[in-house]
Amino acid sequence: MKIKTKDIPKEGLEIKETVTADELGFAIEDLKVLTPLKVVGEIEKTRSSVSAQVEVAGKYEFLCARCLEPVTKQRKDEFDIHVEIEPTDDVVDLGEEIRQELVVSLSPIVLCKEDCKGICPSCGANLNKEKCKCKK
Ligand SMILES: [Zn+2]
Ligand SMILES: [Zn+2]
Repeated sequence: MKIKTKDIPKEGLEIKETVTADELGFAIEDLKVLTPLKVVGEIEKTRSSVSAQVEVAGKYEFLCARCLEPVTKQRKDEFDIHVEIEPTDDVVDLGEEIRQELVVSLSPIVLCKEDCKGICPSCGANLNKEKCKCKK
């Protein structure tokens, strides 16, 4: 999602875009993005930086942090993005920033359900579905 810096007026630029995971440079291991992401926001520019407030809506598939089962979630996340620029930079790539924000803020926190019982560390049983085979 590259934005030409000269297209950002003093009063700010409103954006409303639909971008695919590919366009944002998502790698499979980051996060599985199931639908194109809707990015709405406002971009502002100073001499040395570009900042944006964006809201990113999308549908993702995560692996539950406890039991590693896939979980599908629809989410809307807000990010403040800040990119340093040189006066000679014509283009700023907000896609990379958005990707990083998403990966950092979404990946570690997902559970398939609040009380997911997870996986037994010894026998590997998914304790939501089966009984642990270990001796207690
Ligand atoms: Zn789980
Ligand atoms: Zn076990």
